[in-house]
Amino acid sequence: MTSAEIRQLFMEFFRNKGHEIVPSAPIVVKNDPTLLFTNAGMNQFKDYFLGNKKAPFPRVADTQKCLRVSGKHNDLEEVGVDTYHHTMFEMLGNWSFGDYFKKEAIAWSWELLTEVYKIPKDRLYVTYFEGDAAENLPKDEEAFTEWAKRVAAERILPGNKKDNFWEMGDTGPCGPCSEIHVDCRSDEERKQQSGAELVNKDHPQVIEIWNNVFMQFNRKKDGKLEPLPAKHVDTGMGFERLVRVLQGKQSNYDSDVFTGTIAAIENITKKKYDPLATPATIADWHQAVAFRVLADHIRAISFTIADAQLPSNTGAGYVIRRILRRAVRYYYSYLDYKQPLLHQLVPVLSEQFKTVFPELFQQQDFVAKVVKEEEEAFLRTLEKGLKKIDEIIASAKNKTINGSAAFELYDTYGFPVDLTRLIARENNLDVDEEGFKAEMQQQKDRSRAATALNAEDWVVLNDGGTSFVGYDNTRSETKVQKYRKVT
Ligand code: ATP
Ligand code: MG
Ligand code: MG
Ligand code: MG
Repeated sequence: MTSAEIRQLFMEFFRNKGHEIVPSAPIVVKNDPTLLFTNAGMNQFKDYFLGNKKAPFPRVADTQKCLRVSGKHNDLEEVGVDTYHHTMFEMLGNWSFGDYFKKEAIAWSWELLTEVYKIPKDRLYVTYFEGDAAENLPKDEEAFTEWAKRVAAERILPGNKKDNFWEMGDTGPCGPCSEIHVDCRSDEERKQQSGAELVNKDHPQVIEIWNNVFMQFNRKKDGKLEPLPAKHVDTGMGFERLVRVLQGKQSNYDSDVFTGTIAAIENITKKKYDPLATPATIADWHQAVAFRVLADHIRAISFTIADAQLPSNTGAGYVIRRILRRAVRYYYSYLDYKQPLLHQLVPVLSEQFKTVFPELFQQQDFVAKVVKEEEEAFLRTLEKGLKKIDEIIASAKNKTINGSAAFELYDTYGFPVDLTRLIARENNLDVDEEGFKAEMQQQKDRSRAATALNAEDWVVLNDGGTSFVGYDNTRSETKVQKYRKVT
C-alpha cells in the first residue's frame, strides 16, 4: 500500500461511519495568543469543545498538518536522531462533537487497524487510564470494558495521569485517553521480551501510533471536575508512523513518505543514505542524521511558508528561520555541500503532496525562492561562524560556551542559540543560556536607549523612489509623506 492509499483508506473508513471529511487547518496559527503553530488535530476545533461555537457537523475526520517545535510539544531535538519524531507531521483524526463516545471510537479504531489495515493483533497494545486517587480521578472502566471485548488481556495496559489523562489547560475540557502502540520488533526479539514492558519507553520499534481522547469532564477554577453536558471524542494518529508500520519498515524515513526526498538529497550531494548507521561510527552516524534532518526540516519549512509564515527574526518567523539554519548547518558540515540545497527539494515535496496539500504546489516557485534566499544569506556567514565556534570551544572554560560568546555567534554570524547548543553538545559542552538571554536583553535596552535619543529625528520612507532632498522651510504635504518619525 502506498502512503496515498493509506491516507485515502482512513478517510473512506470514517466517511462510511458518517464523518464529514474536512480540510487541514493552516499549520500557522494566527488568531490564538497561546499557540504559534498547530500542534494537534484538535486545535482547529477548540471552540466546539469549549462550547463557544456549535460544530457544523457532529462527526468529522481529516489529516492535519502539525508542527511540534515550540511550547508544550517540542520534539526538535529528537528529530533525525530517532526515526519517528518529526517537526512537521500529519495527524489523522476523527472527532465526535457531543455525538458518539468511547464504545464506537474504540470499536472503530480496532476495526480500522486490524481489519482494514490488517495489522496483526499480536503486535498491538492498548492502554487505558488507571485512575488517580490523589487527584480524585476515576479509573476509565468503560474504555477497559470496550477493549476487553476485543483485545487479549495481556495486551491491555493501565496508564497513569501523565500518559493517559488529557487536559486542554488548567481549566476546561479534559478526560482519560486510550493509546494504541505497535510492536515492530522481529519475532525473535518479541519472544525474548514482552512488548508490554517497552510501551511508552522510547523504544524505536515499539511505538505509539494513535491516541483516543475522551473528553468527559470540565475542570473548574477550584480544580474540581464536573461532567461535561456533551461528551466528545478527539483522536490523533501519526500518519508517517502508520505508513512505516504498514510498509513493514524499521524507520519512518524508509517509508515512501520520505524516500523520494532522501533520493533527491543523494542525487544532489552524491552521498549515500545509510539507514543502519549507528553512533559507533561517528562520521557515518552524523551523515545519516543529516539526511533525516534535511528530509524532515524541508517539510516544516515548505509547508509553513506555503501557509504564509515567512522566515523572520521574531515569533513564528524566527522558529522557521531556526529550523532552516539548523538544516543548512547539517548539510554544510555533514554532507560536505556548500551551496543552497534545501530549495532544490521543494519541487519534490510539492509534487508528492499535490492533491493532499495543493497550497504548496500552487506556490512552489515562491516557496523555493524564499528558501533559497534564506540559505544564501546564512551561507554567507556560516563558514566564519563555524571557525569562530571552533575557537570558542577550544578555549571554553568549565565545558561551557558563555553567554557573551553565544551572543556574538548570534549577533555577528546569525547562529540561533539552539544551533550553538547543538554544536556545543556534539562537543560535550553546554551553553550558558541565561547569560545569552541577559546579553540579548542588554542589546534590546541599548537599542531602546538609542531610539529614545533619536526620537526627534526623521527617516526617509523607502516608498517609490523619493529621495531625501534636505530640510527646507516650506512645510508641504509632500514632505510629511516623505518622512516618518523613527519609532
Ligand atoms: P510520543 O509519546 O511518541 O512523543 P505523543 O504522546 O506526544 O507521542 P500525541 O500528542 O498523543 O503524541 O499525538 C497523537 C499521535 O501523533 C501520536 O500517537 C503519534 O502517532 C503522533 N505524533 C506525536 N508526535 C509526533 C511527532 N513529533 N512526529 C510524528 N508523529 C507524532
Ligand atoms: Mg510527544
Ligand atoms: Mg506519548
Ligand atoms: Mg500520546
